Amino acid sequence: MKVVSKISDLKSQIGEWKKASYSIGFCPTMGSLHAGHLDLVETSKKETDKTIVSIFVNPTQFNDPKDFEQYPVKTDDDLLLCESKAVDLVFLPEVKTMYPETKTPILLSIPELQKHLCGRTRPGHFEGVLQIVSKLFHLIEPNKAFFGLKDYQQFRVISAMVENLNFPLEVIGVPTRREEDGLAMSSRNVRLSEKERETASLIPRMFALAKKTILSGERDLNLWKEILRDFLLTGSSVRIDYLEVVDPIILQPKEKLEAEVLLAIAVFVGEVRLIDNQIIQIPN
Ligand code: AMP
Repeated sequence: MKVVSKISDLKSQIGEWKKASYSIGFCPTMGSLHAGHLDLVETSKKETDKTIVSIFVNPTQFNDPKDFEQYPVKTDDDLLLCESKAVDLVFLPEVKTMYPETKTPILLSIPELQKHLCGRTRPGHFEGVLQIVSKLFHLIEPNKAFFGLKDYQQFRVISAMVENLNFPLEVIGVPTRREEDGLAMSSRNVRLSEKERETASLIPRMFALAKKTILSGERDLNLWKEILRDFLLTGSSVRIDYLEVVDPIILQPKEKLEAEVLLAIAVFVGEVRLIDNQIIQIPN
């Protein structure tokens, strides 16, 4: 496994692979890798010849400087995990490599898809995501790029950027990997105290309740949201950032519970912000 930090080293390896007509799969990450990240790697290994993982805690996508400072960094462990999955190359750039001070920043955004959910409560977040992902796409020129559906809005925004700006690659969504109690794996979970970790299990239980109430015939959207909110708020240290029901493609709020809806939430458990979502089918 190659580990490179410089753009010139990255480009020279990619050049060799392109010359040999290998297809390239790319999994962008911010490190502190867990089994969810490794699912992206496994999918990439199955679908492409060479798999590249980037590890870069991207400062421009953090709207809260404290969150950036506290973001866990475990590079040595990450490299061992990548090696164990036979990743072909890890790109580990420094901030000054990705953001040279001489360059004037460009802001990309897809306002329609960013009006709600994290786009609403984390101003500037998706601009930062699109900035770094588009830079990485240009440097790596992958045939396929793999993103977790846990960050569903991110997946939609990046897919739309690729479509709108004609990036020559395919964006693939990978299902959310969960802990035994159903909590979505996240690099942020390590910041939860034991008590908060217990409280966080309210999140998967809320999704189970959401499905159960739909199956038992609930169709009043506002009442449904109220039931789910109240359930989450039984946790003493829970603060709801948002709980929204939107269309899974255009990410605009649904007015009725019908067809297919995306139930998406962001909650603070103590200081830690956790997100999750599920697409829920509404029977006629
Ligand atoms: P991050 O390091 O949190 O920026 O995540 C890097 C990539 O891994 C993103 O595409 C995430 O959506 C994906 N990812 C993070 N957690 C999970 C998970 N539990 N299951 C599947 N993919 C995930």
